[in-house]
Amino acid sequence: MAGAARKAAHLWPLALVLLMAGCASPGKSLRRDLDFGEDGARVWVAGPWEVIVPAADVDEVIDQLCPAVMALEHAREHDDGWEYCGVLYTVGEMTYASVPSPLSRDTPGASMVKSCRIPSMVRDQRQPLAVLSDYHSHPWPDSPLSANDAALRSQRWSIRIQFDTRCHVYKLVPHVGDSVPGEVYERVAKTWRLVSIIRVEDKPAGLVQPPLPDGR
Ligand SMILES: [Zn+2]
Repeated sequence: MAGAARKAAHLWPLALVLLMAGCASPGKSLRRDLDFGEDGARVWVAGPWEVIVPAADVDEVIDQLCPAVMALEHAREHDDGWEYCGVLYTVGEMTYASVPSPLSRDTPGASMVKSCRIPSMVRDQRQPLAVLSDYHSHPWPDSPLSANDAALRSQRWSIRIQFDTRCHVYKLVPHVGDSVPGEVYERVAKTWRLVSIIRVEDKPAGLVQPPLPDGR
């Protein structure tokens, strides 16, 4: 009996490790009215986000986004998760990422459709700054740009960046107002691979061809 108890006690640290591994990390919280907020109907985000190292090459900034966003609370919780929306911007020669915002128009609770609100403004005291792109996450694995993401009404800047919980990263170049197809790229081995296009007549609806692999 004593031997069995001693043996069981010996297994305690292992049990604790397994228990901790099984618990989802709650993720880091952002602070409303400090990191992000609303100004009337518009969403603002603070910048720069201190966890992202600025770079002269925008792609170096993009490559840091997904792991940083996925460390935030509810970022990976599928139908119960949150999307985060932020922006990339330049000051002088350098590109910075803003903090992302979880503000959305969705009703709270589980849903297969999420849509964080694209920020309109960055609060960074340095001027002039120029916004290049927005970025946003999906809280599911294998969840690429949606038709809603690619639709004309969702375009604010000349580029959109999107990624999922497996850190598949997509770049949309919508070519708004130009009679050339929109382009969808996937980040593969530090390069952008053209994976789909959006024909000029399909731009209003955001119809991507061929369709992106949606594993949900
Ligand atoms: Zn999306």
